[in-house]
Amino acid sequence: MKHLTEEQRLTLEMVRDVAIREIAPRAQELDEKSLFPEHARDLFAQLGLLNPLLPAAYGGTEMGIATVVLILEEISRVCASTALLLIGQFDGMLPIIHGGSPALKEKFLPRFSGESKLLTALGATEPNAGSDLLNMKTRAERKGDKYVINGQKCFITNGSVADITVVYAYTDPSKGAKGISAFVVERGTPGLIYGRDEVKMGMRGSINSELFFENMEIPAENLIGEEGTGFANLMQTLSVNRIFCAAQAVGIAQGALEIAMNHARERVQFGNTIAHLTPIQFMIADMATAVEASRLLTRKAAQLVDEHDKKAVVFGGMAKTFASDTAMQVTTDAVQVLGGSGYMKENNVERMMRDAKLTQIYTGTNQITRMVTGRALLFQ
Ligand SMILES: Cc1cc2nc3c(=O)[nH]c(=O)nc-3n(C[C@H](O)[C@H](O)[C@H](O)COP(=O)(O)OP(=O)(O)OC[C@H]3O[C@@H](n4cnc5c(N)ncnc54)[C@H](O)[C@@H]3O)c2cc1C
Repeated sequence: MKHLTEEQRLTLEMVRDVAIREIAPRAQELDEKSLFPEHARDLFAQLGLLNPLLPAAYGGTEMGIATVVLILEEISRVCASTALLLIGQFDGMLPIIHGGSPALKEKFLPRFSGESKLLTALGATEPNAGSDLLNMKTRAERKGDKYVINGQKCFITNGSVADITVVYAYTDPSKGAKGISAFVVERGTPGLIYGRDEVKMGMRGSINSELFFENMEIPAENLIGEEGTGFANLMQTLSVNRIFCAAQAVGIAQGALEIAMNHARERVQFGNTIAHLTPIQFMIADMATAVEASRLLTRKAAQLVDEHDKKAVVFGGMAKTFASDTAMQVTTDAVQVLGGSGYMKENNVERMMRDAKLTQIYTGTNQITRMVTGRALLFQ
């Protein structure tokens, strides 16, 4: 891969090695038993993979988004749930990195430096506010040097294990999008109550939680940026998060493609391997083409973010939509190439198919990302 920098190439090699040796062997068990990948959390902390976006000023390596997508693709290739731990982590850090005052950054960001194992989460979604985030009911009311927050969130990745959660709430509902603010909430804050961790179709090694806030008091200094800037902060984070989701989808599809190709080369029917059958060759060709196209689009979107190019938002939406639809199609086709074996848990592609489904839903469903992309192309 000539277009990678030396630093990216070395990172990619290191992550690929770790993914194969340490992550892949546990993927099936995490899925079957719905276990959170604690081992990966420890490993990522040691390798500096829990904080690649942390600015150097706060002790981080400040990798670019283009490097982070390489990391996410490699992990997702063997275990998308484990990659989701990282995506939740980056989602919780980005709002502070993007929007925090120098004092807020100084308060929280150094805690993530070095081999810190601290985890973060981002809480925006509520039972009646999914695609329609402006319908959120969570409220934050200023009282002296504190904010008192009441409300709830759902489906939050890393929710019940996070040490720090960025929570979005209305400070002034009459102002619509400009009435939403973002806050940093620390684990152990009185009034922060954990509901259930969801039982899911796929990504079963990831934690997705309900959070309740009952008269939860937090210091006023934990406001991110100014009051009313929360929605813009959320959209900025989501635009990057969609590229992470795209990278995850590319990784899932690549993993399934490799399993399908290996199977096609080995499975003998009618006296020869099924790789010799034209319908199988056509499927593999289409799968590989779509995976490569998704990868290129995802890397292009990531590069545009690093270059602070405004087109990054449109390309990020396109990458998320295309890569996730590709992951769904490729994993489904991989099951088909494996035939009955593909339907069995031991061969991993059925897990990948279930995991792929999430990428079409979270960080904005593909209906929403198509609408946003179409409008941006037509009206901006
Ligand atoms: C595993 C998982 C992890 C998640 N992690 C997080 C997290 O860490 N933090 C967080 O805040 N949220 C998280 N989410 C929430 C996720 O982002 C939402 O589920 C997603 O945005 C969709 O919202 P919804 O589920 O309420 O679906 P709905 O908004 O109810 O959508 C239902 C259907 O209607 C369609 N639809 C809705 N509105 C429109 C429209 N205007 N035009 C066309 N079609 C429309 C949708 O595309 C979809 O097909 C997570 C969700 C899951 C499942």
